[in-house]
Amino acid sequence: MTDSDKRAIVRLTPNTRHRVLSGHPWIFSNEILSVDGHVEPGDIVEVRDLRDKFVGKGYINPQSAITVRMLTREDQRICEAFIKERVREAVNYRETVYGEPGPLGSSPKGYRLVFSEGDFLPGLIVDLFGGYLVFQTLTLGIDKWKDTIVEALRDFVEPKGIYERNDAPVRELEGLTQQARFIGRPFDPLVEMDENGVTIVVDTQKGQKTGYFLDQTDNRLAIRAFCTEKTVLDAFSYSGGFGMSAALGGACKVVCVDVSDAALDLARAGATRNGFAAKMTLRNANVFDVLREFETDGLRFDVVVLDPPAFARSRKMSSRALAGYKEINLRAMRIVEEGGFVCTSSCSQHVAKDEFDQMLEEAAVDSKKTVRIVERRGQRLDHPVLAGVPETEYLKFRICQVFNSR
Ligand code: SAH
Repeated sequence: MTDSDKRAIVRLTPNTRHRVLSGHPWIFSNEILSVDGHVEPGDIVEVRDLRDKFVGKGYINPQSAITVRMLTREDQRICEAFIKERVREAVNYRETVYGEPGPLGSSPKGYRLVFSEGDFLPGLIVDLFGGYLVFQTLTLGIDKWKDTIVEALRDFVEPKGIYERNDAPVRELEGLTQQARFIGRPFDPLVEMDENGVTIVVDTQKGQKTGYFLDQTDNRLAIRAFCTEKTVLDAFSYSGGFGMSAALGGACKVVCVDVSDAALDLARAGATRNGFAAKMTLRNANVFDVLREFETDGLRFDVVVLDPPAFARSRKMSSRALAGYKEINLRAMRIVEEGGFVCTSSCSQHVAKDEFDQMLEEAAVDSKKTVRIVERRGQRLDHPVLAGVPETEYLKFRICQVFNSR
């Protein structure tokens, strides 16, 4: 097992004010002056500034643009005990903030247990769905500790089963292969979890990302109160999380739209499981087309939820992405009933909060509506945001009330 004893030293270039000195965990290849000593990809290295002052330790992958990711600012050994302690702290944080007595493996609910940089374990994602764990090791430096991580999770969480969802294309940027498999005893990959009274069917094996988007859990609950006896459009529904929350809140009609048949199959399973099938309609279509069609046909909803995939995958794409967000938001504003709600999100980390709000302002103008933003929300607190690390804060969620001119 790799540890700090090899002591290869990474020296930072002299001419930049490094983010890493103010706590950011990433060091890009062009910020490195030299690497002294032999390193294998994934090894632990010591980082020093130009005055040879110790900055911290992290793991290195010369093949990745983010060459070093920091693990600690203290001069301590990075060993199995260190990694296990970080996993334990991450699990403890969820037990604390959610008041779960633990072990979390016996909870019927869903939680993100490890959120990469937000839990000081860059590259590691662990989600828990009704006792079943799904994890991803997305960088080489964390992938090396996989066995240790699994052992720690078994000890601290006592899960019913574990699935490795490493079929993520980003792994290739790190020189890793894609793979997905059960760790230990196989189980039925369709698992159920409770989300604020709704039973969610999660496909741990084939679902998008790790199977379900836990970051929106509180936002799904936040819309419930004003969905009673209302008509709701759940656009970009995936497995229907928002739509089913609205249905539990007493919505009289819910229309889910998604382009993925697999997603709609999960939504159908969920609707049936919760007894909502009679009031939920599932439609396989492009949301851009559907919004236009509803506008033309005069179909209106009391509540429209927009939860598109990340339109911007890089900062360069952000202006095109904003045009896409504006298009769907202004159309949603047009098809919502007077005084109704548009609940809109962006999960692109490359679109800043201010830019998103600015886009909403412009969409309001173009749709000729008066829009008031009644609530600004973000990701749930099991996706903790690190101050000074904007990449950890990615989800924007706005509840907007829409009026004809006021
Ligand atoms: N609202 C969901 C998560 C949505 S993820 C939840 O609460 O869990 C984004 C979804 O948008 C994916 O399911 C994807 O299949 C779908 N999608 C992407 N582009 C689309 C488009 N143009 N029209 C309809 N659905 C789309």
